[in-house]
Amino acid sequence: MFEKLALIGIGLIGSSIARATRLHGLARTIAISTRKQETLDEARALGLGDTYTLDPVAAVRGADLVILCIPVLAYEAVMEQIGPYLAPGAILSDVGSVKQHVMKAMAARTPEGVHLIGGHPLAGTEHSGPASGFAELFINRWCVLTPAAGTDPAAINKLTAFWSALGSNVETMDTAHHDMVLAITSHIPHLVAYNIVGTVADLEQDTQSEVIKFSASGFRDFTRIAASDPVMWRDVFLTNREAVLEMLGRFLEDLSKLQRMVRVGDGDGMEALFTRTRKVRRSIITAGQETAAPDFGRPHGETALLSGPEGTVENTGTAAPLLDVNVEPDHPVREHGGGDDA
Ligand code: NAP
Repeated sequence: MFEKLALIGIGLIGSSIARATRLHGLARTIAISTRKQETLDEARALGLGDTYTLDPVAAVRGADLVILCIPVLAYEAVMEQIGPYLAPGAILSDVGSVKQHVMKAMAARTPEGVHLIGGHPLAGTEHSGPASGFAELFINRWCVLTPAAGTDPAAINKLTAFWSALGSNVETMDTAHHDMVLAITSHIPHLVAYNIVGTVADLEQDTQSEVIKFSASGFRDFTRIAASDPVMWRDVFLTNREAVLEMLGRFLEDLSKLQRMVRVGDGDGMEALFTRTRKVRRSIITAGQETAAPDFGRPHGETALLSGPEGTVENTGTAAPLLDVNVEPDHPVREHGGGDDA
């Protein structure tokens, strides 16, 4: 499908793309570039690509597909470096969780003749680094593409075919719409999780130990989301501020209504709301974005088979319902790997 795929950034998402590309034979060569020698050595030891370099320019030379897999606030500096060396006719894409900000950063530095198509796979885990990736990550998950205005439809079709081959369902979207949808489906849930777990972290030592000792599924699920990469999520909230604040406003209004129901003892109101929210959960399961398998927070032998375009993959059944944190890897992982000192 492609002669040379250049991956700039080889953490969870970049390494998952590398593994799946190799598995399905989607590129003749895979060039890997990352910022730190330690990460490059790790990628090489894992055999994720064909060439390895700390110089992103060397990686993108002659590449017909370049995908940025780095934190969204790192785009400008990287694009300054690679922009002039992108090959005419190449597709330039990315995986950033926020789209308006990164499309501006890329568009300003993309030469004529290069097809700019933003991308965001709605798949991920709370883990980071090259070892945390796995080839099945994108199976049966959505990948949203945000092509720049006037992009050649043939290039969009080619990138759509690439993501489909990785197992994703692909949808094209306007960047502003993407950022609003993701604010409520992914960014606010992460903000809420960071806040709840932060509240516990601030509790008196004795109470905190009890919360941890008796942690039931509600709090436990929040802790997994709140373990997501600090740099990645800092960047999301810095670059999708308007949409997050808009959705947070609605969320807080609804929370006040719920607070009132509790205060005045409005049982009917609460029951009606909880019945509606239960339906949302069921529709997510029906849409194949989550399994109905019970989650006891420990291995329980139950697995659910998820169908994907390339066949099937086993899901451990421990997946959380939120976008970006859907699949648990069973590989050794490096917590907060790449982004610590960005
Ligand atoms: P990750 O595992 O932490 O990997 C980050 C990669 O970016 C590493 O190769 C790291 O290189 C490099 N990097 C970090 N800071 C950099 C900088 N300032 N300049 C250049 N390179 C830098 O991250 P990830 O989870 O794969 O996330 C990558 C992108 O995917 C982000 O834009 C994120 O929004 C998006 N995304 C993430 C998820 C998810 O669930 N994690 C889901 C969908 C989309 P070194 O290690 O060499 O420093």
